[in-house]
Amino acid sequence: MNSVKKNAAIIGYGGMGGWHERYFTEKNSDCVNLLGIWDIKESRREAAREKGIYVYSSLDDVLSDERVDFIVIATPNDVHKDIAVAAMKAGKHVVSEKPVTLCSEDLEEMIAASNKYGKVFTTHQNRRWDVDYMMFRDLYRSGKLGMTFTVESRIHGSRGIPGDWRGEKAHGGGMILDWGVHLIDQMLGIVYDKKVKSIYCRCDYITNAEVDDGFKLELYFEDGITAHIEVGTNNFLSMPRFYMTGSSGAAMIGDWREDCRVVLCTEWSEENVVPVVTAAGLTKTMAPRNSKTTKEETISRPESDVHDFYRNFTAAIDGREEQLITHDQLRRCMRIMEAAFESDRLGRPVDFEDIDAPRKN
Ligand code: NAD
Repeated sequence: MNSVKKNAAIIGYGGMGGWHERYFTEKNSDCVNLLGIWDIKESRREAAREKGIYVYSSLDDVLSDERVDFIVIATPNDVHKDIAVAAMKAGKHVVSEKPVTLCSEDLEEMIAASNKYGKVFTTHQNRRWDVDYMMFRDLYRSGKLGMTFTVESRIHGSRGIPGDWRGEKAHGGGMILDWGVHLIDQMLGIVYDKKVKSIYCRCDYITNAEVDDGFKLELYFEDGITAHIEVGTNNFLSMPRFYMTGSSGAAMIGDWREDCRVVLCTEWSEENVVPVVTAAGLTKTMAPRNSKTTKEETISRPESDVHDFYRNFTAAIDGREEQLITHDQLRRCMRIMEAAFESDRLGRPVDFEDIDAPRKN
């Protein structure tokens, strides 16, 4: 544990800036001390003052404060890069909200600044601490389902894309950059040991013509594993959050709040299968199994503390830990999002040259 907390300033005090602030202040962070915030909107600066939080007079004012060890960038996506590069040049370490930025070219500029100025730079991929993800990550790695064939990850809402900058292309709106970046990052943590060979993506434009308000993305991994990632904002019934099939079983998590159900096959062949009645007749092929040839287990939700993100980041500043969310992982995720946009534009799958090493976390 850190003996000396790192001093932070938050740039952009909107929804997510407020989330970081609450973790640093109300939840009594054990590794971060908040010095203040900066936001271009007076109403947001006033909201901070009302909570007794110090408000800087500009970004330059933050960057010239020698006490600030790092900044958290919680602005819309299109300005992450310029703020991050300016901050590292000024000697500050940087946490950028996700998506780290809008394209690989910008990301390379950010990584170059991190290397040039010797500053820790990472992205807040906080959904690595989601317990539903953690259960699926650990299940895949346990090999319990035998040879994995498919992993499916879905988020379904029914309120369209938010009516703010998320609906505007210029600000980096759209669901691939918003939710997609989390779900892709998680999927690469689940199928951690395989390379992506090709990608197919179809975007939805149901409530917004400018940016995608949902998408269906297939990642075709080596060894025949298919990952399906889906975000919908027009789904009045939700499909399960996670689903996985393997040679000896299947697993499912219905929604965020549920445990993980695992059904394992104990005996392949079954005698006296009772057929199921369908409109067109009986079927044994699709008849459900019973407890004679399967057994069901439940994986309970594990403990998780999302503030471990900051414990790792501040330890990385001190050189005590490797940063968990690495530059190579950010590059891989960004290249997959770019390939998804390209596939949607072309209306066909695209090959993917996967240069990233297997992932540990
Ligand atoms: P928001 O619109 O609620 O807040 C953004 C704030 O940034 C606004 O107050 C705005 O005035 C301010 N701002 C804009 N340009 C600025 C600039 N140049 N300098 C200083 N302030 C500026 O948006 P949000 O929902 O808080 O999203 C902010 C970021 O956080 C986005 O990158 C988003 O993708 C990310 N986010 C991450 C998560 C997560 O779970 N990790 C969740 C929500 C949002």
